[in-house]
Amino acid sequence: MLYGRLSEFKEKEIKALIERGGELANVSGTVSSILADVLSKGDVALREYTQRFDGAMIDAIEVSRDEIENAYNSTDQELIKHLEIAANNIRKFHEAQMPEKMWFMQLSPGIELGQKATALASVGAYVPGGRASYPSTALMTIIPAKVAGVRKVVMCTPPGPDGKVNPLTLAAAKVAGADHVYRVGGVQAIAAMAYGTDSVMKVDKIVGPGNVYVTSAKMQIRDRAEIDFPAGPSEVLIIADESAYPAMVAADMIAQAEHDPQAVSVLVTNSETLASKVKEEVLKQAQSTIRGEIVGSSLKNAAILIAESIEQCIDFSNSFAPEHLEIITNDDETVLQKIEHAGSIFMGNYAPVPVGDYASGTNHVLPTAGYARMYSGLNIMHFLKISSIQRINKEGLATIMDTVISLAEKEGLQAHADAIRIRFSS
Ligand code: NAD
Repeated sequence: MLYGRLSEFKEKEIKALIERGGELANVSGTVSSILADVLSKGDVALREYTQRFDGAMIDAIEVSRDEIENAYNSTDQELIKHLEIAANNIRKFHEAQMPEKMWFMQLSPGIELGQKATALASVGAYVPGGRASYPSTALMTIIPAKVAGVRKVVMCTPPGPDGKVNPLTLAAAKVAGADHVYRVGGVQAIAAMAYGTDSVMKVDKIVGPGNVYVTSAKMQIRDRAEIDFPAGPSEVLIIADESAYPAMVAADMIAQAEHDPQAVSVLVTNSETLASKVKEEVLKQAQSTIRGEIVGSSLKNAAILIAESIEQCIDFSNSFAPEHLEIITNDDETVLQKIEHAGSIFMGNYAPVPVGDYASGTNHVLPTAGYARMYSGLNIMHFLKISSIQRINKEGLATIMDTVISLAEKEGLQAHADAIRIRFSS
């Protein structure tokens, strides 16, 4: 874990922290050969890779309706209630994001311009399942697609060594309204949804997080299917001052670290006292965490940085562009105003990242590795396309014809100019 004054670190160390995600390049060769195999061998390759990577011999690739119903019925009713609570919050928040389906404005007399939002026809949701199971990701990916009006939403997730999908993930898929569920994960799942196989439906867009292999696969199939964005190993950056509770900050860093050995947890603070107390707490809490091995590896990527001021903390955060940003200061609102790049923002001592991971209703599928600089986290717009519309009458066209004809002729596109003139020729 990097610890010390921000100003005293070498540029190289800070650069390494900011430019994470280098692993993507390292796995791209392995990933492209799996993609090519699935493209040429279809279901046969899906079975082979599932045996190799998940240790499962599978026959049926699609999970049957009965299997989903049985999983749902055998899940503790109390857990189903919690899935429903989370699902309702996610639904409400994403419904609030829905733009007007169609609108028009009058540009000038006779010229009306507008737009129409249409849902994508099919979407594939990737729900990770390697190191942990993520029923919550089934809710986060499928519900917004359904709210947007996507007709076919399919889900892929890796099976366990017994060939079965985690029952709570299946229950979540049912609660969220998945149309088909496939027991296939990793690169092979992304390939299957992008290319289609005998068992797996080809989709127009693939959304959802995953490890570096999954993320690299998503980046490589973009000529066949649209994707949301690179959503790889999780990360949190916490901007805090002396108003933060050290044990809570440390707990949030450990919570992020338990996702993946490549997860990144960073505290940047203007308080030396907070920094040293958080360091002590992180080391203490790491001793008793259940996923100690993963936490231990990922804490090697962690950092506690002491800045000269909150302004410097904000500047650092804006260069880091974190997936999750926690702001715990005496004046959170002012800090919020100055944040330019962050996937999802959590304000105050009582808004830890796990509340958004599961249940508050905001989406937990978020851009990692600095991609929050140019991508938004998963939201309703990822499932919609916008068509622009123009409604123009003869009078309206007359007001703009000279401009169109002049520009068209200057570009050498005579037929474009004629298409306007012909409307006034009689
Ligand atoms: P996963 O489902 O992403 O990956 C498991 C699959 O990886 C396996 O089924 C296998 O097919 C493939 N795989 C493993 N080793 C491989 C190898 N050597 N070569 C080729 N393929 C290989 O599950 P995971 O590993 O637990 O990772 C989940 C990730 O999702 C974590 O990094 C977590 O931080 C991240 N996550 C991110 C977000 C986000 O929004 N950014 C949200 C939730 C989870």
